[in-house]
Amino acid sequence: MSVLGEQLLHRLRDAHKRRRLTWWERIYLPAIAQGLWITSVHFWRNLFLHLAHRIGLFRNRPASVTIQYPDQQRVTAERLRTRHRLTRRDDGTPRCVACMLCETVCPARCIYIVAGEHPDPNVEKVPKSFDLDLGKCVYCGYCVEVCPEDAIRMDTQRHDIAAYSRDGMWLDTRELLHPGIRQAGEPPRKFEPMTLEDFRRLPATPPPPAPGGGSPAA
Ligand code: SF4
Ligand code: SF4
Repeated sequence: MSVLGEQLLHRLRDAHKRRRLTWWERIYLPAIAQGLWITSVHFWRNLFLHLAHRIGLFRNRPASVTIQYPDQQRVTAERLRTRHRLTRRDDGTPRCVACMLCETVCPARCIYIVAGEHPDPNVEKVPKSFDLDLGKCVYCGYCVEVCPEDAIRMDTQRHDIAAYSRDGMWLDTRELLHPGIRQAGEPPRKFEPMTLEDFRRLPATPPPPAPGGGSPAA
């Protein structure tokens, strides 16, 4: 007999040896009543605690295991990969030297960089535009790992990134340098060439919030 046949026979023997249900178990009513009892206990407990929280009682006792998002934010790990940002030098220009390593390593092919010459001979290049399509990104973090300049990070703690269109998932250069600068509904400025002066004129980037949506990190 083949190996497959022996395995099948073995399973048939096991099924035959399975314990038979008693008459009490076969009517299923006790199990249904037990399930309803457990559900009801949780329902009334949560309802009581939610109402008590409304009037300021038992605040230290959570009403349910569900996180009341968005009023309550999940405490996230520091190493959690969230939406990208580009880091900046003291003068406001990007730290990125347009080496293209992140664009090359990206498995989703969702980074688009146009490189330009930097007037400072000590700086390799500068991105004229740096775009990232979050709709394609798989959040692998390779771009962050490979960057030799610590120019791209995934520490914004922004993970509520739903959008109504694919364009809404597009991060242009300004949005990457200053997360949140684009107003709701404003179309992205895809591949918009920027000069060093444009970078310097961008408002200072706010520090990313602490993991879990708490106060800003130092
Ligand atoms: S996280 Fe991964 S998929 Fe997303 S941009 Fe970076 S390298 Fe590409
Ligand atoms: S790897 Fe870093 S320095 Fe190189 S292009 Fe990407 S962000 Fe810029």
